[in-house]
Amino acid sequence: MKYYSLIILFFLLPALTVSGQNTAQRHNITIAIHGGAGNITAENMTPQKEKAYHAALNKALEAGYAVLKNGGSSMDAVKAAIQYMEESPLFNAGKGAVFTNERKNELDASVMDGKDLRAGAVAGVSRIKSPVEAAIAVMQQSPHVLMAGKGAEQFAEEKGLEMVDPSYFYTKERMEELDRVLQDKTTESEIKKSPKSGTRTDNSLIFTNEGEKFGTVGCVALDADGNLAAGTSTGGMTNKRFGRIGDSPIIGAGTYANNTTCAVSATGHGEYFIRSVVAYDISALMEYKGLSIHEAADEVVMRKLPQKGGAGGVIALDAQGNIAMPFNTQGMYRGYIKGNGERETLIYK
Ligand code: ASP
Repeated sequence: MKYYSLIILFFLLPALTVSGQNTAQRHNITIAIHGGAGNITAENMTPQKEKAYHAALNKALEAGYAVLKNGGSSMDAVKAAIQYMEESPLFNAGKGAVFTNERKNELDASVMDGKDLRAGAVAGVSRIKSPVEAAIAVMQQSPHVLMAGKGAEQFAEEKGLEMVDPSYFYTKERMEELDRVLQDKTTESEIKKSPKSGTRTDNSLIFTNEGEKFGTVGCVALDADGNLAAGTSTGGMTNKRFGRIGDSPIIGAGTYANNTTCAVSATGHGEYFIRSVVAYDISALMEYKGLSIHEAADEVVMRKLPQKGGAGGVIALDAQGNIAMPFNTQGMYRGYIKGNGERETLIYK
């Protein structure tokens, strides 16, 4: 009996190892990012700016992809890609964040792990250098999901995260953007009358993003173990007031991940994304209606959102490595790298 068991084991072991390898190989590592959607057209872009955006998107993708390629987790890849964009003044996240009505930077970020549905977020923080890192700390080192303002900063400091003076986030371009918005007579009263904004509610009259540019950053990733993760980081919307928080730190609105469906990160006019529970709605359409990632993302971003007047887009990734990146604006900074070497960065439609 013993002799036979040994023979069986002898033949079975190599087969088991090979099938183990196949399991790992089945998950095609993939990463996708966005750097905001909005009224982004070739006409209002210079060749230099366009080049700078493509370069920054590529660098962020490579930072995240390197993690996946070395066998790292999708959450670590999300962190690496988003941190690159937080440090780039080109995007409305971290350094380069937009200014509030009080000429401050108040940052929001969130992450979600598709494996166990754990999530973390921070909102309205001004001293944490990397809000996405703080969101991960909330998820991994606290029993909570969302921390705001001073409390979130105290938590981050206690956990040893890098703290900065609020002036670190300042950029001249964003301050000038706020000045233009404040001077622009059309922003508050006339936006209401403009035919383009006929579907807006009063929510949109508190602030505006210059030319409707939403420069939030986000990332979705799939690692070799088949785990999905999503993250989003933002300065919110130019001229925001009264401690306004958008969709980016709200799990289910701006960020969602579930291994059985998809990972999603959104950018756009946050109020609409919160009310439409955009990221979760995409996942729910896959879960309950059996839609594909493309069908689900299109249904929400191209049909449901515009009906309510919600401008913006998402990046969405399923557990097979399929990517959908729909947006209902003129452009969205975006890109991806797949395990088979396929890669692209894009700006316009
Ligand atoms: N969704 C962000 C917010 O409403 C803005 C953006 O996407 O740029 O705060």
